[in-house]
Amino acid sequence: MTAHPMPGGKPPLKVLLCSPRGFCAGVVRAVETVERALALYGAPVYVRHEIVHNRYVVESLKAKGAIFVEELDEVPDTQAPVVFSAHGVPKSVPEEAAKRNFFALDATCPLVTKVHREAEIHFHRGREIVLVGHAGHPEVAGTIGQLPAGAITLIETAADAGRFMPKDPTKLAYVTQTTLSVDDCAEIIAVLTERFPAIVGPQKEDICYATTNRQEAVKRVAPIVDALIVVGAPNSSNSQRLKEVAERNGCSQAQLVQRADEIDWSRLAGIARLGITAGASAPEVIVEEIIDAFAAHYEISVETVSAVEESMFFPLPRHLRDLDKAAGTAAE
Ligand code: SF4
Repeated sequence: MTAHPMPGGKPPLKVLLCSPRGFCAGVVRAVETVERALALYGAPVYVRHEIVHNRYVVESLKAKGAIFVEELDEVPDTQAPVVFSAHGVPKSVPEEAAKRNFFALDATCPLVTKVHREAEIHFHRGREIVLVGHAGHPEVAGTIGQLPAGAITLIETAADAGRFMPKDPTKLAYVTQTTLSVDDCAEIIAVLTERFPAIVGPQKEDICYATTNRQEAVKRVAPIVDALIVVGAPNSSNSQRLKEVAERNGCSQAQLVQRADEIDWSRLAGIARLGITAGASAPEVIVEEIIDAFAAHYEISVETVSAVEESMFFPLPRHLRDLDKAAGTAAE
């Protein structure tokens, strides 16, 4: 598909906006947790790790008085709130916070907490646990850190699943990271279940609704566009997966960008149809910035391609909810 400039004007470009895209309920809850803590207690509010993997969100919260640290030993002795990020934390983190008398607010997404609880149940039932996920991601570190060292084995690929040797194949369970590629994960689980038919898994998969829905929308759009922009950060797992899903579903020109100034225009010469989506930690304001950037280069017409309607909502951590109720400012 090649775009021809209108006489004397910009070339036309059809923009297909994937829906759903951008913020999920877990990210909204995590960002609101920091914002409510700042409003209730004032600055500073300490946040362990990027609250969500998005530089724009982190910088906005920094400007309001949030201080981001990677580990609790960077936090001075303080009465200020200390928030744990949406990705979840190893058990050692709340333990250390309690030892130091920190006022901890846990913004772990409830869907990550659900995976933590599943892993604990398997462990208490004497099962060896496989975690399907990506090494180095904080969610994976958080899930592995729910149990004693050695209780969980990380598997990243179908090849890993093919090599894995359990201690007892009749006492085996798996859990997964919430932000995986739906298709890759299914392949890995198929290898595990074929090799170990007694393996126990979640009733409904651990990949969260937001990851699944955003990938589904990209699968619809990728085959019918010349290029696709994923708004998201390089360290955002679900954003990286959206780019891969686009490439595997017929769109070889997929770019992951954090802001409009990162768009590689040299790869977009002659396009007539563009898909746009955003990872679960990317705010809509950046999607608008990206659309504006394309509007400066092209005569755009925008259409939304919707895979599914979302209505998920997670209430704030209990302590903030209680305070909001007491103050009569409940957001609901
Ligand atoms: S991507 Fe899924 S698991 Fe992660 S914060 Fe959002 S809803 Fe929760």
